Amino acid sequence: MTEQNPAGISAETLIRLSAAQLADKLAAGEVTAVEATQAYLDRIAAVDGQVNAFLHVNAEEALAVAAEVDAIRAAGGAEAEALHYLAGVPIAVKDLIVTIGQPTTAGSKILEGWHSPYDATVVERLRAAKMPILGKTNLDEFAMGSSTEHSAYGPTRNPWDLDRIPGGSGGGSAAAVAAFEAPLALGTDTGGSIRQPGAVTGTVGVKPTYGSVSRYGAIAMASSLDQIGPVTRTVLDSALLHQVIGGHDPRDSTSLPEPLADLVAAAKTGNVEGLRIGIIKELHGEGYQAGVENRFNDALELLKEAGAEIVEVSCPNFQYALGAYYLIMPSEASSNLAKFDGVRYGLRVLPEEGPMTIERVMGATRAAGFGDEVKRRIILGTYALSAGYYDAYYGSAQKVRTLVQRDFDAAFTQADVLISPTAPTTAFPLGEKLDDPLAMYLNDVATIPANLAGVPGLSLPGGLADEDGLPVGIQLLAPAREDARLYRVGAVLESLLEAKWGGPLLAQAPDLAAAGTLETQEAK
Ligand code: GLN
Repeated sequence: MTEQNPAGISAETLIRLSAAQLADKLAAGEVTAVEATQAYLDRIAAVDGQVNAFLHVNAEEALAVAAEVDAIRAAGGAEAEALHYLAGVPIAVKDLIVTIGQPTTAGSKILEGWHSPYDATVVERLRAAKMPILGKTNLDEFAMGSSTEHSAYGPTRNPWDLDRIPGGSGGGSAAAVAAFEAPLALGTDTGGSIRQPGAVTGTVGVKPTYGSVSRYGAIAMASSLDQIGPVTRTVLDSALLHQVIGGHDPRDSTSLPEPLADLVAAAKTGNVEGLRIGIIKELHGEGYQAGVENRFNDALELLKEAGAEIVEVSCPNFQYALGAYYLIMPSEASSNLAKFDGVRYGLRVLPEEGPMTIERVMGATRAAGFGDEVKRRIILGTYALSAGYYDAYYGSAQKVRTLVQRDFDAAFTQADVLISPTAPTTAFPLGEKLDDPLAMYLNDVATIPANLAGVPGLSLPGGLADEDGLPVGIQLLAPAREDARLYRVGAVLESLLEAKWGGPLLAQAPDLAAAGTLETQEAK
């Protein structure tokens, strides 16, 4: 597979290019889309036994799309001119997003073997851009979790340390991108599931402004919080992908009518001079790992040197955000998950004895098909919404949500962009928080406020923590519809950090190919 192309680029090099670098090489005819797609498929075959990022690999279709792009390029003319910049650049898709021709499980046994009869809007847009879809990535069941350990198909492992979690719920997408199994991936973020996995795997993840990317075809967890977004290795790549998937969609009633400002141009602006960047007092310090805090302070220093003005803002109601989220999210989820009834989708389990009523079939199916975390949240949500408790729980949580939104409004009068660590700690060992739901929920303490307010957030690698040498994420937040600011500041910070490190952070990750397969490791 090495050095077939005229430019003599090896597969090893090919998979380490950013999406933008690969797109440039495809356009220049230095490599073909089939070569690039095959290089990624080979990489998946070589390392995914260790990482378990993919639940399904879509080799044949991905290669067919790549071949189509190559044929169009080779023929030249108007059709070649009209190809999207990312045509032929492969991508992985979180298995919460429905796709024709591939299974969609949501990480749950209840959807095992289910095939969607339609594509999500974002998938239609990937297909329109002729991006080969490599496969579907692992996640916590129905996107509930912060470690991907709640997947019914086994946990994904962090490419930086295979005994640690890759974050969640979108650990599969983040690990695939970090392990060079895909240059790009899609995730979904309801409370941090794009940004927190990004933080702990040293990748870039973006939760767009609520309504700026269609939710049509993303299996709903909590509809008022969910957003699909990019998972990439560079800030520019996220801007490029965001631009492919974003924009109005009449099939999503919460879709914004107006497009966002040019995100790619913003990522290329190259300066932050005079920009006011607000440190959120409540989102760092106590409860944050020392190495996380140190990398956060380094980032602030660099931004200051680059001409940004650093101010401190206070968002006092953020302390209640986690509590409010864990009432609103389960309430919406309990309602959204009611459709998995053993009749309409996937699994059907018949009761072993007694009358065969619809309620009993539903009970048996849901008992067997849902995992513990999903059941926990359905019970929580049903309780919070029940008569007599609705005002005390769900109603109060909605009031807190408004207060969080007001905190953001006030903070954005003092700062153009807000900044915090993305997650309080680096990746923790597999199993460490599995039996302690509250400890698991705390991983999202810094990411949840953005979902409650609908504002956009971007996480980028901030370096390695001193204690454990694991990636730390830096989170940037902007007002609703101002996603462009995130790309502007993110790209500047990224280039300053990479200058300091002498290259991308992921270049420092261990070499998985050298480690052999998981089987051979376990045999040792
Ligand atoms: N970890 C959070 C949760 O468990 C967020 C999940 C998400 O964003 N999908 O709810």
